[in-house]
Amino acid sequence: MLKDSWGSTYDGRPTPQSDQEKIRERVWAGESLEQAMQAVSPDSYVKQKAEFLQNVSAVYRELLLLLGEEPDSSALKGTPDRIARFWDEFIHYEPGNIGTTFDSVQHDQMVVIKDIPFFSLCAHHLLPIVGVVHVGYLAADTIIGLSKIPRIVQKHAHRLQLQEQLANDVATELMEHVPDALGVGVYIEARHFCMSMRGIRSEGSMVTSVMKGNFQQLEVKTEFFTMAGVG
Ligand SMILES: [Zn+2]
Repeated sequence: MLKDSWGSTYDGRPTPQSDQEKIRERVWAGESLEQAMQAVSPDSYVKQKAEFLQNVSAVYRELLLLLGEEPDSSALKGTPDRIARFWDEFIHYEPGNIGTTFDSVQHDQMVVIKDIPFFSLCAHHLLPIVGVVHVGYLAADTIIGLSKIPRIVQKHAHRLQLQEQLANDVATELMEHVPDALGVGVYIEARHFCMSMRGIRSEGSMVTSVMKGNFQQLEVKTEFFTMAGVG
């Protein structure tokens, strides 16, 4: 038996970890839940995925019947399976590595990534939201890799969303990766199909912005809007 620095004894063997713990550890280290599940327990991952596709497909077959359609007709044969694969692709979207940061060369530098296109689905009607996001932050000592910001946007767009929530999610996650940023701004302009396909059937874009930290100050906000070409 050995003694560690706290005086506890152990037999030198690592404590066995549950799959759940292993998955949690990999997610903390930067892997997505999908990647971690696949790596830790590939068999149950494959089983869960098959079950997901089967269950979603069954629900859509039921829906087609409720809509008065014939799911086995030549046009609709395969439709429930196709929509199930769409949901799998949409909900289990893989944004890739988000966390890479670097030391900033210049203190107080505004970084703006504009016109990041996105597609999402509205949480109220499950109809598409299509638009662009402009993201800015004022870097202190840390900057985030340029491709990471669009990845953050895609990650949060790939779930049922509300535009205000999306703006907030993107701002919050960016602040988590660049905690010393002096401020963050997110500006979203999007069309909601629930406005154009139903209800008032009107075209029009909705604009939302979230300002955190010193982006709440007028001059910083104005600089962001000018750099993004909006406002
Ligand atoms: Zn809606």
